[in-house]
Amino acid sequence: MEVIRTVKVKLDVPTERCDDLHQTKDQFLYCANTAAAWAWRYPNDCCVTSREKAESALYGRLREETDYLHANLVQKGIRRAIEAVTSGVARLEKGENTSQPHFDAWSVVYDKRSATFHRDRVSLSTVNGRVECEYVLPGNAEGTPIGEYLLNEHYEFRTSTLQYDRRTKSFYLHARMRRTTDEQGQSTASREDAKHRTVLGVDLNVDGSLAVTSTGAFIGNADEMNHRRREFEKTRGSMQQAGTRSAHLSSQSIQDREHRWMQDELHRVSNRILDEARDYECTHIAFENLTDIRTRMAGVKRLHAWAFRRLFEYVEYKTEMVGIEVEQVNPAYTSQRCSSCGFTHETNRRSKHQFVCQTCGYELNADYNASKNIARKLLKRLHSRQTSSSGGAPCQCALTSGTLTLNGEFHASVNSTAEGESTDKPTKSAVGN
Ligand SMILES: [Zn+2]
Repeated sequence: MEVIRTVKVKLDVPTERCDDLHQTKDQFLYCANTAAAWAWRYPNDCCVTSREKAESALYGRLREETDYLHANLVQKGIRRAIEAVTSGVARLEKGENTSQPHFDAWSVVYDKRSATFHRDRVSLSTVNGRVECEYVLPGNAEGTPIGEYLLNEHYEFRTSTLQYDRRTKSFYLHARMRRTTDEQGQSTASREDAKHRTVLGVDLNVDGSLAVTSTGAFIGNADEMNHRRREFEKTRGSMQQAGTRSAHLSSQSIQDREHRWMQDELHRVSNRILDEARDYECTHIAFENLTDIRTRMAGVKRLHAWAFRRLFEYVEYKTEMVGIEVEQVNPAYTSQRCSSCGFTHETNRRSKHQFVCQTCGYELNADYNASKNIARKLLKRLHSRQTSSSGGAPCQCALTSGTLTLNGEFHASVNSTAEGESTDKPTKSAVGN
């Protein structure tokens, strides 16, 4: 049984950072109000009550209009609007009078994607980087909600709300705490926590397929993206030479058109990744770390770095709705390691697109091999987290024809769709479990 308690704790916000929190609140409410205005179409049309629809229509635009407010805060703002519109629609259906939702109360919703919760402080994303705020704790917290829940290791932080009291000019965190273990220290993990952890690995590329998954899906077209980028730059160059106002305007409209194409393409790719994760009942999706990717990975242009980050954000917010976690892993050696025997050497990669293991002879698409190694890296991390705490649900990678556990055990999936291709485990035939 789930036990959740809300604890109000005052925050000690550095004076010079208060304004960052106020501005973040303004932009968060801007997202909510913009989404409400977009979704509320009564009485002329049907109101939009689908979060997914609202997010795909508004997310990119709101991120740009808000100076890139944290992706998760944009999403939470849209979500708040859609919840209000949905309950407004329910009132209309009951014949009650209501109007377009509007938000002006001081409040911002944070979860572990936009905040890091500690027992003595919280680090909050703002429009100007993170702000660390210490809790103002009572001298003796014993018997108070703070002592019982906030400081209690048997409780974990869930989605919480930041509020501001104009009267006392103070910030408060309304922390929602969920019980994770019972009195005997036994995990009260829900079914969700106890089920198998299955990781989908995703490898991103600047040519060929934009994304390749550990289940062998080749998604999106990076070549088309490059082609459009070159064409666009050519057109822009010649128009800038013309230098007229109308040339500038048509350059702008081409830019808008290409931008829309990119957004659509990235949505398509993110949806395919999500489908793949759902088909294989994955609990996690692993991407390589996208920080500094331009200096690390050959051939990554500014456009690619932008597209990769945007794709990651799309996947992150879409998976949140279906309860799948997305994480980034260190990509070191993921292209040199043999995903079959583990042998790691730079000579393993015969060509850009073909991987051949110098030890076991395993041969497969190089990006596909890398995506399996990316999945494995997250798997190892999840496994080490588990062994450091209690319990230990089985961890596994999602592969084309089944799943691979950390110790190399292979299970063929019941509804395997691998047709004529059994590259996952060439030395051993897939045996049903
Ligand atoms: Zn090998």
